[in-house]
Amino acid sequence: MSLIDELDYYASVDRAIFDEEFADWLPRRIFDVHTHAWLPEHCLRPFAEERVGLVFEAESVSVPELEEAYSLLFPGRQVDYLAFGMPLTIIDREANNAYVGGNIDGQHRYGLLVPGLQDDAETLWAQIQAGGFSGFKPYLSYVTWKGIEEIRVRDFVTDAALEVAHAHGLIIMLHVPRNTRLPDPDNLADLEYIAAHYPNARVILAHGGRAYSRSLIERALGRVAVLPNMYFDFSVVQSAEVVEAICAHMPAGRVMYGSDIPVATVRGLLFMLNGQRVTLTRKPFPWSLSNPASPLKCTFMGYEQLRAMKRACDNLGWGPEQVNDLFYGTARALVDAATAAVRGG
Ligand SMILES: [Zn+2]
Repeated sequence: MSLIDELDYYASVDRAIFDEEFADWLPRRIFDVHTHAWLPEHCLRPFAEERVGLVFEAESVSVPELEEAYSLLFPGRQVDYLAFGMPLTIIDREANNAYVGGNIDGQHRYGLLVPGLQDDAETLWAQIQAGGFSGFKPYLSYVTWKGIEEIRVRDFVTDAALEVAHAHGLIIMLHVPRNTRLPDPDNLADLEYIAAHYPNARVILAHGGRAYSRSLIERALGRVAVLPNMYFDFSVVQSAEVVEAICAHMPAGRVMYGSDIPVATVRGLLFMLNGQRVTLTRKPFPWSLSNPASPLKCTFMGYEQLRAMKRACDNLGWGPEQVNDLFYGTARALVDAATAAVRGG
C-alpha cells in the first residue's frame, strides 16, 4: 500500500506545486520532528472505536510507506525523522513502541516512546535506553476516565515521564488538549508548572499548540515564549499568520518542521472558522467537507503547511540560513543532544 494515491493527479497537480513553489526554497536536507509509524497488526480494534477525532485515512504507516511518502512529498531531498507510534487505545502500544525502536538507526531515523500512564521513572528510563529513544510521545487518548474536554496536560504527561526527561534532557512531544487549545488557562498553567519543575525536559508543542488561528496563538504566545524549555513544531498548521506569530515571538532555535504523516499526505485544507476546526478534502470522509460529485482540486495538507511556512518566512525576511534551521538544524541539534544523553547515560 502507498500513502499517496492518484499518481497521475500527483504528477499534474501536487508535483507541479512543489516544483513551482517549494523546490528553490526548501533546503537539501529536512528533519521531520513529528511523524507516525505503525503496522496493521498493531491495530487491536477498528479506528472508529477511538473517541479522539482523527484527520487521516491511513490505517497503518509502515517505515517503507513513510519513506516512500517522503520521496513523493520532498523530491530530491534527504529527510531524516523522529517517529513515534499511533498513540491510541485501539493500538497495541508496546508492540508499536518495539517497531519504532527497532527502526532507530541513530543517523537518519529516530524515535520517541509512547509511555504507559502507570510506568514509573525507572521503567521508563529502561525502555528509553533499550530502544535508543530520544524521549516521549504521551497522549491524551489514554485518559479514559474523564470527558475529553476535561483532560489536563498532567493527566497524561506523567510526573515519571517528566522526571526522566528532566534528568536526561529528553524530548516530550506534547499535543495540548481541549478545544480551547493553547490559550486554555489550565494548559498555560500546566506548561508553566512543567517549565518551573522540569526545566531540562525539552517540550515540543505539537501543531503550533493546535492554535490554528491568529487570535488563538496571540492569546498564548506571551506566556509561552518566556518559558525556556518550550519549542513548537508546525505539523498541520496551515495558517501563515500562526506560523509568523510563533516565529516572530519565540526565541531563535525553538521552531521546527513536522509533517504529522499520515496527515500531511491527505489532500485538503484545515482552517478555523469562528472558533471551530474545519477540514475540506478532495476525497469524502465523515470528518470533512467535500464535493463527491466534483472532487475539489486540493493538494496535500503537507503542502498547504509549506505554503503557510513559506509565506511566514518571506514576511519575516528569513533567508536560507534561518529556513535551514527551521527545516533541519534546530531539530537535528535537539534530537542529537537527547540521543547522546540516552547513549551516554
Ligand atoms: Zn501526530
